[in-house]
Amino acid sequence: MAEHSKPIEGKNYIEGEWVSSSSDDIFESRNPADTDQVLGVFPRSTEQDAKRAVEAAVKAFKNWKSLSRIKRGELFDNFAQIVKSEQEELSRLVTMECGKGINEGRADVVEGIHMVQYVFGSSRMPSGQVVASEIAEKESYMKRHPKGQVAAISPWNFPFAIPLWLLGPSLLEGNTAVFKPSEDTPLIGHKLAEYFHRAGFPPGVVNVVHGYGEEAGAPLAAHPEIDVVLFTGSYEVGSRIKQICSNYYNKMAVCEMGGKNALLILEDADMDIAVSSAVLSAFKTSGQRCVSAGRFIVHEKMADEFTEKFLEMTNRIVIGNPLREDVFMGPIINEQGLKKVEYHNEMAVKEGAEVLLKGERLGGKEYDRGFFINPFVYKMKHNHESFVLREEAFGPHVAIIPVGSVEEAIEVYNDTEYGLSMAVITEDYRKARLVEENCEYGLGYVNLPSIGAEVHLPFGGVKRSGTGMPSAATLIDAVTHRVAWTINHGTEIKMAQGLGVEI
Ligand code: NAD
Repeated sequence: MAEHSKPIEGKNYIEGEWVSSSSDDIFESRNPADTDQVLGVFPRSTEQDAKRAVEAAVKAFKNWKSLSRIKRGELFDNFAQIVKSEQEELSRLVTMECGKGINEGRADVVEGIHMVQYVFGSSRMPSGQVVASEIAEKESYMKRHPKGQVAAISPWNFPFAIPLWLLGPSLLEGNTAVFKPSEDTPLIGHKLAEYFHRAGFPPGVVNVVHGYGEEAGAPLAAHPEIDVVLFTGSYEVGSRIKQICSNYYNKMAVCEMGGKNALLILEDADMDIAVSSAVLSAFKTSGQRCVSAGRFIVHEKMADEFTEKFLEMTNRIVIGNPLREDVFMGPIINEQGLKKVEYHNEMAVKEGAEVLLKGERLGGKEYDRGFFINPFVYKMKHNHESFVLREEAFGPHVAIIPVGSVEEAIEVYNDTEYGLSMAVITEDYRKARLVEENCEYGLGYVNLPSIGAEVHLPFGGVKRSGTGMPSAATLIDAVTHRVAWTINHGTEIKMAQGLGVEI
């Protein structure tokens, strides 16, 4: 991997300036496919850095929100043009830093561009509503006011698109922001800061603070002048963010978290669609998507044929350097992530799984300096007490669970604390409707994988997976306050509900 051999020296981006951490400490970003390759060094920020960034955002807020919504939107057009001019180079950096296949690195960048284009386009669309009053002379509006300062704290697996889901709608609506990228993908966080700078966003409107969760993320979330914390990541950290926010009267937590997603393969399923959907759902990004499926809930009549064809396709998956076009699965993000997957694999065996593919760590040649692991596939009856059938592994770890009916499939699907994404494979529209109405999820698909979001749709889950305020296009409801504004065009006061004005 000769390209990008010189590590970049990243800085925090505060009030339009590139600055070091107050501690002068740094941390490295390494390629998870080849840990000898250092991609960059970044400031290990502290509470003081988070404070400085929030102060910059507070200072910039008044002028930013006074700017026309359309002018704010136009800066996103500049942003999109800049990214497009270096799209392939950026996609390769995404792949080198987070280890997903190059076609996924490209897709992450395309999704980010789509978000920015959506934000730019919607800046000229109507915002708010004109609402009728029972008094003819009165005119009422629902208008949206920005909340103030938002903190965006993001995960590593979509280092380009997810920050833009969070920052795009927030900035368009007149909020200012402090963004803390994942410590696993600071290089892409740094690129985002660079693009905001080059696109002409005024100083302080977007600030970027690098560093670790407890050291930089937690004090950022807890800063009294942060009004909304936009968090995407694990349930454990999201719960901590919710606790922090509950200590402040003004602070709202918008958390998108993990999933224990599933494919429901019914007795009339088209087998080719089922098998292709299953491989994409379980193994894209090496199973490290919040929407990756860790469970295939399969009608017992289909189970044998499905298992055979699924294993045959899975055995053809190429694992290796994700920059290679033929590679389907790259590495796990880091040693800790790999250990977590291995733990889930061991637990499945302890819980009585019938192991079909062993899921072993790969070594030798190109694997030695990365975190590579084979898919782990097992068959197991559903069991409410099981750890592995109910908790997120975040890796290539998938269970085949036989069931006897669509009703049982729904029951098994819902028997986890998560509710993010699901897909049903069926030719029977009545059964698809039953699934649509009775499963608990935020993203549902028919005859498709459980992955494949688009930015103009809501993205968010229920139960442990989310706080009910989906990201991407629909984030507007979380980052604006809806106010009612009523004007009397008459020459006397007339009240609603027959309220008299005589004294
Ligand atoms: P993570 O929760 O470990 O980290 C996410 C972010 O939170 C990072 O920037 C991290 O530095 C920060 N953080 C950690 N501790 C913190 C603290 N105490 N206070 C404030 N910030 C803190 O998640 P990850 O490993 O980067 O990503 C994987 C997880 O994210 C999986 O569970 C996955 O399902 C989930 N995810 C969810 C979605 C979604 O939209 N629902 C999307 C992508 C990933």
